[in-house]
Amino acid sequence: MNSERIYLDHAGTTPLRSEVANVMTETSLRFGFNASSLHFEGRLARAALDDARDRVARILGAKRTEVVFTSGGTESNNLAILGVVQAAAPGARVVASAVEHHSVRAALERLRERSAAGGPIPVDSNGRVDPQEFERTLGSQPVCASVMYANNEVGTVQPIPALAEIARTHRVLLHTDAVAAPAWLPIDVVELGVDMLSLSAHKFGGPEGVGVLYVREGVPLHPLMLGGGQEAGRRAGTENIAGIAGLALALELAAAERARTVARAVALRDRLESGVKAAAPGVSVNGAGAPRLANLSNMSFEGVEAGDLLIALDLAGVAVSAGSACTSGTLEPSHVLAAMYPGTQGLSGIRFSLGTTTTAGEIDRVVAAIPSLLIRLRERRAFVLPFEGYG
Ligand code: PMP
Repeated sequence: MNSERIYLDHAGTTPLRSEVANVMTETSLRFGFNASSLHFEGRLARAALDDARDRVARILGAKRTEVVFTSGGTESNNLAILGVVQAAAPGARVVASAVEHHSVRAALERLRERSAAGGPIPVDSNGRVDPQEFERTLGSQPVCASVMYANNEVGTVQPIPALAEIARTHRVLLHTDAVAAPAWLPIDVVELGVDMLSLSAHKFGGPEGVGVLYVREGVPLHPLMLGGGQEAGRRAGTENIAGIAGLALALELAAAERARTVARAVALRDRLESGVKAAAPGVSVNGAGAPRLANLSNMSFEGVEAGDLLIALDLAGVAVSAGSACTSGTLEPSHVLAAMYPGTQGLSGIRFSLGTTTTAGEIDRVVAAIPSLLIRLRERRAFVLPFEGYG
């Protein structure tokens, strides 16, 4: 492998697009004022903010008043789940699927302390929520259910329109974490039928630290950030005008380019999976039996810890992730794989996530590098394992 790095962690963060960087710089320099100020400069910032809000609303098929800008996916998910419970009558509960991102799981943990969380809603061996199981969970009359649109670890796409219809019948609000989706899937909130939807700009070519929570008109929501009356009282704090302008452009570009990007990514992803499987034994692809994100492949390698392979690949110049980037460093077993394969323990998988800049040449270099890394890691493991009993 030559010295050039190969970045296959676009599900962790996409590189900032240069068009977006330029718009952010220009917006900062021209409109970087406080959008709540009444003076001329404040009104300039307000106009830039309104413009971005309109453009985001258009892509989502939403009203501009339904778009709340936040600091990213984590805040959007927290706000949806905690905000809806705080606005509801005492005793209100939220349920969520077993494969949600940690920002949903941790919010549920907080609610569980006061018995305000139910579930989890189980998934099948492809990570997909079964609509019938979903309906059963709603029998307990939660105020809100949270099911992610596409899973960030294995890429499974949930049948959100079907789940939304069931939720509506049971008068339960449906929130979807769509953070992994915009570059790869349509995100029209009316077609999806959801009440709340979370986005994060750094997953589709925008900057880190800025996101959106779509909140359908009429959904009662208490703010988590308290202070000024920004975002129509739903999120206090002076708006990040440059970040928001960057988010709006990145979202427009992602939507405009989606069809071409998806077709390209699927071809490259298939090339990666068939190449790796042909080159090395003991490789399985997780979640391949259900609809999944075009750019994502989660593979388990028999006899190899995903963390060890991640480091070996990194040293070989390839950036991938094991499970969710938010927990790497600790590398605990994946709760997503555990939910997909009940009864198994400590399963790990490597997440290869491709992007618009990924090339066939890069995929071929990764495929060529993997067999020797696997042989080395498997040999080491075979050597180390007999000694585990001495501790
Ligand atoms: N949800 C999903 C599905 C994600 O992948 C992430 C980012 N890892 C988040 C939420 C959190 O988003 P952010 O990094 O913007 O806080």
